[in-house]
Amino acid sequence: MCLFCKLVNGEIPSNKVLEDDNFIAFHDINPIAPIHLLIIPKVHVEKFQDVQPEMMAQMTAFIQEVTKTMELDKSGYRLVTNNGEDGGQEVPHLHFHLLGGTKLKWTHLHDEDPKASM
Ligand code: 5GP
Ligand code: ZN
Repeated sequence: MCLFCKLVNGEIPSNKVLEDDNFIAFHDINPIAPIHLLIIPKVHVEKFQDVQPEMMAQMTAFIQEVTKTMELDKSGYRLVTNNGEDGGQEVPHLHFHLLGGTKLKWTHLHDEDPKASM
């Protein structure tokens, strides 16, 4: 069973912010912004590439609810999903990073000249 499936069934603890029948939002264990949440479906979906659009419609509504709970809806935030190896995905269970609580920088993501790999 994957790490986030264990978190869903309570085998590993999490600091939850919001939960409904299908999704959970909880604090990232290693935050990179003043607010850094992870939002996951309770069922195991490996990555964004595999998710059913119908689930994404429900997940979108849940994420919007989380932004209101965290009072990020007016100030703004960043929503990120790392997909697969080149995306830097470490936990193979679909999750969105919700980042906020400060004016976030948009910095370089790769050490080489991006044009070189085009
Ligand atoms: P990825 O690199 O797969 O997009 O992101 C995985 C995220 O999960 C990382 O930001 C990491 O800090 C977080 N993480 C890993 N293990 C745990 C855990 O046991 N609990 C929580 N709350 N976050 C975790
Ligand atoms: Zn899983």
